[in-house]
Amino acid sequence: MLELAQRGGVPLPTGDLEKLKDFLQATDSTSSLVEYIKYFELPIAVLQNVPALERATYELCEDLKSDHVRYAEIRYGPWLHVQQGLSLTDVIRAVLSGWAAGRKAFGLEGGIIVTALRDMPPAQNVALAQVTGRFVNEGVVGFDLAGDEAGHPPILHQDAFRVARSLGLNITIHAGEAAGPESIRQAISMGAVRLGHGVRAQEDSEVVAMIREGGIQLDTAPTSNAQTKAVRRLEDHPLRRFHEQGIKVTISTDSRTVSDVTLTREFETAARVLGCSPAQVWAMNMQALDGGFADEVTRTRLRREFVDVEARLRPAAGGKA
Ligand SMILES: [Zn+2]
Repeated sequence: MLELAQRGGVPLPTGDLEKLKDFLQATDSTSSLVEYIKYFELPIAVLQNVPALERATYELCEDLKSDHVRYAEIRYGPWLHVQQGLSLTDVIRAVLSGWAAGRKAFGLEGGIIVTALRDMPPAQNVALAQVTGRFVNEGVVGFDLAGDEAGHPPILHQDAFRVARSLGLNITIHAGEAAGPESIRQAISMGAVRLGHGVRAQEDSEVVAMIREGGIQLDTAPTSNAQTKAVRRLEDHPLRRFHEQGIKVTISTDSRTVSDVTLTREFETAARVLGCSPAQVWAMNMQALDGGFADEVTRTRLRREFVDVEARLRPAAGGKA
């Protein structure tokens, strides 16, 4: 952050790394998604040129490797990185270049999900979908919608998602985080097979049934969900209940920077705070792979690898997990 700010000529509120964290990290007392999103301002400010985007993506891969990740889908919103003259194409290329180098160096599989922003004019998200479609075979695996959910229902952007689908992009939409069940209904009607978070489905049993019967996957991020107040307290998170109800749920980090989490720590939270057993956490991990947007050949190969690893780690018969 300090180096990128210096190179990009971006003024920071402080040069002290410890104090800088106050401007980058949400806490338990963060009050809403809108407040959570404010913490992205400085990271976005320093990510306005090709080398910075390449480096951030590459170093994210490095961080994922040390978090024992093998398969990753990385989401970001290209419209946030055009403030100093880059085009959408420049931005997408820069991130794909960082991903190509990073995945190779750190042994990752997966891909990039391009995120449209809810508070952008719908026509701009249509334009984003069109540009994104050109990178379908170059590492982009999906199209997403995120940002301030209240007052910006998904349906405003249905044209962009129609275009994205027609260009072969897999669809995921953030819904049921800052807005309720209606947002989830709309997201599913727009072709989303996975929802970002979706935790507020718990307010409507019909929507829960729709998710379960439709095989819709919920990619939840418990620490972030508590910070954005999608759940009132971490302990109230529906992860385990959803899993036990037969809903496809997975554990993600959301923003590793803003929430100051790793996937390992989110798995620990699922076990320690939400009461998931190791077998349940593992099932969610396998679900993340099964519901992944990368090609089937890759996922089949990784599934075998994961099963092998699990067998090796499983305690001997009679032992206690
Ligand atoms: Zn998110």
